[in-house]
Amino acid sequence: MEILVASGNKEKVKEIQAILDEWDIITLNDIKNTVEVIENGRTFEENAKKKAKKIYEKTKIPCIADDSGICIKEYGGWPGVKTARFLGEDKDSNQYARQRNEYILAKMQGLKKEKRKVDYVTVIVYYDGTEFKIGTGILSGYIATTCKGENGFGFDEIFELEDGRTLAELEKTEKNVISSRKKALEEIKRQINR
Ligand code: IMP
Repeated sequence: MEILVASGNKEKVKEIQAILDEWDIITLNDIKNTVEVIENGRTFEENAKKKAKKIYEKTKIPCIADDSGICIKEYGGWPGVKTARFLGEDKDSNQYARQRNEYILAKMQGLKKEKRKVDYVTVIVYYDGTEFKIGTGILSGYIATTCKGENGFGFDEIFELEDGRTLAELEKTEKNVISSRKKALEEIKRQINR
């Protein structure tokens, strides 16, 4: 089966392809198409549904949209759906990830480990013109005290696991076993294969 992934984020698409290895993953880039979707929903699910629907309607190819972010307990779930954009709409790409991560580290400076709890949340929506299939994954951890690790992207370098390693210190294959993206995609796979 061919599935269109509604994302221009190459790192994210690579992870999705590795998890959905029995399907052919294509992107808008592969079919020389572009669709502008403004991610202004109040929840990850709203954003993912909006992306999947809009892109399916334009391309008529079964589509997967992934919306992810980090929710810090101490701040009532902030930045949540604003994870990409909390420094401004113009600073939403991976290129600004270090700047966003350093902002979070500075804001949390001096906070003890128990105040650094964070959930990495992913909602995946599959849409093929019939009904939405929705998968949710959560990985719990801590905001690190410095940026650590060279692998991964986005907030991986500040998301610390129980064992003290950040997601960016894991091998690619290790992240894909435990990530919230993996959990959400497994849920979607079960629903599609039912
Ligand atoms: P979006 O899901 O593409 O809208 O991404 C929201 C924000 O989360 C962006 O800042 C991404 O860089 C970041 N992000 C998404 N997935 C991951 C991940 O697996 N690891 C680290 N950062 C991520």
